[in-house]
Amino acid sequence: MSAGFHGAKYCWMNGKVIETEKALVSAMNEVFFGIFEGIKAYTKGDVLSKGRLNIFQWNAHIDRLWDSAAICSIKIPYKKERLLQATKETIKANGFQSNVYIQPRIWPKEGAEPFMGTAKEFDVVIPIWKFETLLGKGNARFSKKRRLMVSSWRRIPSDALPAQAKCWANYGNSALAVREAARLGYDGAIFLDSRGFVSEGTGACIMVVRDGKVITPPVTASILESVTRTSVLTYAPEDLSIPVEVRDITRAELYVSEEAFLCGTGYEITPITSVDDIPIGEEYPGPVTKRIAEHYAEILAGNVKKRKMWLTPA
Ligand code: PMP
Repeated sequence: MSAGFHGAKYCWMNGKVIETEKALVSAMNEVFFGIFEGIKAYTKGDVLSKGRLNIFQWNAHIDRLWDSAAICSIKIPYKKERLLQATKETIKANGFQSNVYIQPRIWPKEGAEPFMGTAKEFDVVIPIWKFETLLGKGNARFSKKRRLMVSSWRRIPSDALPAQAKCWANYGNSALAVREAARLGYDGAIFLDSRGFVSEGTGACIMVVRDGKVITPPVTASILESVTRTSVLTYAPEDLSIPVEVRDITRAELYVSEEAFLCGTGYEITPITSVDDIPIGEEYPGPVTKRIAEHYAEILAGNVKKRKMWLTPA
């Protein structure tokens, strides 16, 4: 099985930079129980321009990879610093000069009979590929209309398969919701948790705006502890004087919110037009969502002095 992805020529595997085509893992591997991270590096200055890359929130992402490993009782066979060095080596080998997505993947190797969950050794692969950002002033992709539905699938309960771990197995749950939404003509889905409160998107957290306040579900609502969510919860009140609250959100609150958006490394700040065909708010994208997205772009571009510690030069 090839770990190749989106055509970047080189990736890093088990200690060295190699051609992605040659990054092969065994057909006997227990891939279902792998863990991973999704990290982005942005160019300096205008987020749409070319230049040197800064990795956003490297430490938070890599700490979460170690948390995922702890939850799944996986031992990652490298130190955190080695994976940063590996990422830099791979960016250099590919000669990337525009925004890239970095996805360290820990694949369990073949286990002992009776197989399921018994692997003791792991392949570590870091594929990296280019992406186009939604952010930056005037980026038309940001304002695209996005119709979401509440999924008929519930988010996996944390006492069965913890959403808190970034484990491939969890994405089977996400894929069911993604495929249902596509089948029914929506752009994506929002999960309720097993209690019936709003949980998260299929690959992003959700935030709503009510009375000018940004509200997002707590970690106990079966969410991944999103690095973007934590960043927004920090900079919205501190840098923009936008109040925030972490509490359970009801399904009905989605419908009567002034604004709603998804946040995550992949989704960045993605405004939501409607949920279950009920339009959200009067203006699209809403003013709070826009301020949050614009400031996020400024942070990523290295223009916000107090947030520069969130950037690691690649
Ligand atoms: N929830 C899920 C299920 C995700 O896959 C992601 C993307 N990693 C997020 C939330 C957002 O997390 P982050 O901001 O750390 O990318």
